[in-house]
Amino acid sequence: MMGLAGIPLGIRFRFLDPDPDAPAGDVGELITAPYEDEEALAQFARGLDAATYEFENVPSRVAGFLCSHCPAVFPPPKALEVCQDRLLEKRLFQRVGLETPRFAAVASVEELRAAVSRDASGGGVGLPCVLKTRRFGYDGKGQAMIHSEGDIAGAFEAVAGHSKEPLLIVESFVEFSRELSLICVRSAPEKGGSARTTRFYPLVENRHTGGILRVSVAPAPGISAELQRLAETIGARVLDELDYKGVLTLELFQVGQDASARLLGNELAPRVHNSGHWTIEGSACGGSQFENHLRAILGWPLGMTTMREGIGCAAMLNLIGPPLPHPSGVRAEGWSHPHLYAKASRTGRKVGHISVTAKDRAELETRIERVRQEVPNAGR
Ligand code: AMP
Repeated sequence: MMGLAGIPLGIRFRFLDPDPDAPAGDVGELITAPYEDEEALAQFARGLDAATYEFENVPSRVAGFLCSHCPAVFPPPKALEVCQDRLLEKRLFQRVGLETPRFAAVASVEELRAAVSRDASGGGVGLPCVLKTRRFGYDGKGQAMIHSEGDIAGAFEAVAGHSKEPLLIVESFVEFSRELSLICVRSAPEKGGSARTTRFYPLVENRHTGGILRVSVAPAPGISAELQRLAETIGARVLDELDYKGVLTLELFQVGQDASARLLGNELAPRVHNSGHWTIEGSACGGSQFENHLRAILGWPLGMTTMREGIGCAAMLNLIGPPLPHPSGVRAEGWSHPHLYAKASRTGRKVGHISVTAKDRAELETRIERVRQEVPNAGR
């Protein structure tokens, strides 16, 4: 999708992906190699103006190698390091004044037992709580719920596996009213200048089932100007801390409603994000998250992050395989648009999405329902 956004701007792409069937091969030169292959990395970096990634698990050594072979590498390797470790993310949230679930780093079942048995006043996480791997978890993978002391040993075994030195984090379970995300974009200074521009898309409401994002709605309904401002203030501080350029996504839990709403930090994604795919159709001209990420890392003026004229709200319905619908099965009425990623369909894999736009909230929800009825695995 980044390639598709950049081609009309005259940007040409080279991609590195270990998978020979990577869909990016349709929109640019594809080098197929493991990320750590230095020869392939050197071939990849040759002649590039800028390098970026849309996957946070790129080894930081690889980002370091690129930095010494390419004039601009964004986001900075430091952002990758933080976003690859849930513990570092939580500590960053604390530094910027964003509340988090109570958490503790644990490396053994004894440490887990100690963290769970102490309540908040004793510095523990209490019950119920969620045990997670610190690294390489996504979509609820590498996680286990702990409802009672009797679950502790089983949860530890399920998440730590056979690892001799497991790196885990246990978090209090948050009774959130909904999940939100804030997509932030900060540009590198334009040539010869020093001013950076920072923009934010409206907060997005994310609806998950089984730990997997199914539907995103933008702007999230019922967000006060104060809550949007608060999220943006936190977002700007995170960008500052990481010396960040490009698109960054803050995944948040909203606790409470209306005037008593609070935000807690869940995760950070140093990249364009699934909850921002609606921006392709929903945002003002030139303002999709993909185009803005490219503009940001190239030091070009950013596009708008407001809604496109005539569009009050938008949604993104994930297509989760199998089966893969045929695009002709998605209505073509100007308000719904299919995006199929040309990925092999596997159970639980995101293989595409459908964007829906509308003038107002009621029309959007009706349209989401229509698409869900017509396309069997859309948004579910
Ligand atoms: P994650 O991969 O950490 O984003 O977790 C996947 C999903 O699990 C989140 O989107 C939430 O729906 C849920 N989840 C994760 N952590 C917590 C928590 N501490 N409290 C409540 N729900 C959680």
